[in-house]
Amino acid sequence: MKKLLVATKNKGKIKEFAEMLSDLNVEWLSLDDVAIEFDVEETETTFRGNALLKAEAYAKAAGMLTIADDSGLVVDALDGKPGVYTARYGGPGLTAVQRYEYLLTNMEMVEEADRTARFRCVIVLVDPNGELLAESDGVCEGKIAAAPAGDGGFGYDPVFFLPEYEKTMAQVPSETKHQISHRGRALQQLVPKMREILS
Ligand code: IMP
Repeated sequence: MKKLLVATKNKGKIKEFAEMLSDLNVEWLSLDDVAIEFDVEETETTFRGNALLKAEAYAKAAGMLTIADDSGLVVDALDGKPGVYTARYGGPGLTAVQRYEYLLTNMEMVEEADRTARFRCVIVLVDPNGELLAESDGVCEGKIAAAPAGDGGFGYDPVFFLPEYEKTMAQVPSETKHQISHRGRALQQLVPKMREILS
């Protein structure tokens, strides 16, 4: 069985990756599983740039095939913010709930029609030397809700409204989220290449 490092400490993300690619005969390892403790600072200004930074650093440290993603929320009424700063939006030390509350506060004056937004996710797969093998970019369109709803998912899911489902991302079943989410779409794009490389 091939080992694949997923460059994250977020168990939610690993679970999503493993569930979506459950047919692949791969041992999914997190940074904790390979005892990597250092953080890579996300200093780039694009999702792709940050995904590559993380993938290269962790692949070299672990000497393993590695996938890394960088994702975030792009809000039209906020000129694309928080974008690559989504995880840090509102300042250091906030909980996920405090971050989306900060977003809702900044969106208070924005009318329903102008609340369009999208989650974006760039995933890169690199070899143990950090050389790029494959990449993908997934988008999920939606709107910033007026108030949070639902308790599924993580992060900004309770305030990300999916017009097609008339529910937030935190209210749809996780199987639905896997299919339509930015990360789900990016992964689906990457699957054929990953099968080639991992078989
Ligand atoms: P990163 O990709 O780990 O840097 O995370 C970026 C930020 O986007 C984090 O604050 C997450 O909470 C948020 N985010 C990424 N994907 C999702 C998602 O599927 N649902 C809700 N929030 C997300």
